[in-house]
Amino acid sequence: MKIHEYQAKEVLARYGVSVPRGNVAETPKEARAIAENLGGRVVVKAQVHAGGRGKAGGIRLADTPQQAEEHARALIGSKLYTPQAPQGVPVSKVLIEEAISIAQEYYLGITLDRARQRDVVMVSAMGGMDIEQVADEHPEAIIKVWVDPWQGLMPYQARQALYDAGIAREAVPTAARFLTALYRAYTASDSSLAEINPFVLTPDGQCLAADAKMNIDDNALFRHPEFGEYREESVEDPIEAEAHRRGIQYVRLGGDIGIIGNGAGLVMSTLDEVSRAGGRPANFLDIGGGAKAELVRNALELVLMDPNVKGVLFNVFGGITRGDEVAKGILEGISALEVKVPLVIRLAGTRAEEGLALLQGTGLIPAVTMQEAARKIVEVTR
Ligand code: GDP
Ligand code: MN
Repeated sequence: MKIHEYQAKEVLARYGVSVPRGNVAETPKEARAIAENLGGRVVVKAQVHAGGRGKAGGIRLADTPQQAEEHARALIGSKLYTPQAPQGVPVSKVLIEEAISIAQEYYLGITLDRARQRDVVMVSAMGGMDIEQVADEHPEAIIKVWVDPWQGLMPYQARQALYDAGIAREAVPTAARFLTALYRAYTASDSSLAEINPFVLTPDGQCLAADAKMNIDDNALFRHPEFGEYREESVEDPIEAEAHRRGIQYVRLGGDIGIIGNGAGLVMSTLDEVSRAGGRPANFLDIGGGAKAELVRNALELVLMDPNVKGVLFNVFGGITRGDEVAKGILEGISALEVKVPLVIRLAGTRAEEGLALLQGTGLIPAVTMQEAARKIVEVTR
């Protein structure tokens, strides 16, 4: 789960990270009142679950409360088109903060390095901008240290990384404190990512987190009631929101071939095979193990809500899932939903033959292997 900048700042402040004074507003009038309270120049920041807001016009300086109100009016209710969200994300809140003067912008971040099976702490003197771009163009400018999970991030490791990255000496003590705080916040909240970008050094030597980002592992949310109020329905995608309500694992991918399978690994391999065969998957959908007919029908309905879908590929490997149950679900789905696009079905494993027998003479296209299934769905949707 992604949380907003102002929420991540709330969390980090509890761990001792200094953040600019400010408050969140849902209306232009509120924005004005907050700006009046803060006094002086403020920055009006769109709160959306996407980075790159600065370049997209979502971060605006205001010299007066009147101007803050105008910026808030322009932003609230509009959409922000960032490189990460080209389809646009609606803005419903803005954060109003005292504007800070910036001498230097640095990057501090922590995420999980799956290959090393450890958390990796990253520091760069090239902060402020897109860290992915820095990673592409100047990988040497990102210093990494891996954290021993038993010891946690040691202060000397943090300092070493900061010196190696070339952070100004006067900023190192605070940056080291922020890094250890960031690490504690990250582990305590079961995050998969925590970033301060930029970590700002002001001309008079102050250090502040000007931006903050945290992603919380969905599978750990049950033990974090404190994040309950941060939960928002996916405003970006109505089908994903519907899938969430139905308890189905669905991710929209933007292509035109619908994918349904059982088991996340199998579904991801199916996406790869479809891409390899020259097709573009419309979605990821995992019906899980032991899926019954009703669920299969539900899944098919969901995939067909995407108007771009020109065909659907079922890839089901029966273990505890029974091929005949899946076939029944597909047949029920087809008659109930008036399916007009071709379906390719690959059933293997438990009761696959019974399942395929049920599908005979129905116009559905059977396939024996995943590769064959991928080829066929690409052919018939071309
Ligand atoms: P992001 O683009 O979504 O990462 O949003 P940020 O909060 O990181 O803001 C982007 C950039 O706007 C920062 O790197 C700063 O250069 C600038 N910025 C943000 N807040 C302030 C501020 O209070 N004062 C000034 N002068 N610049 C700011
Ligand atoms: Mn940022």
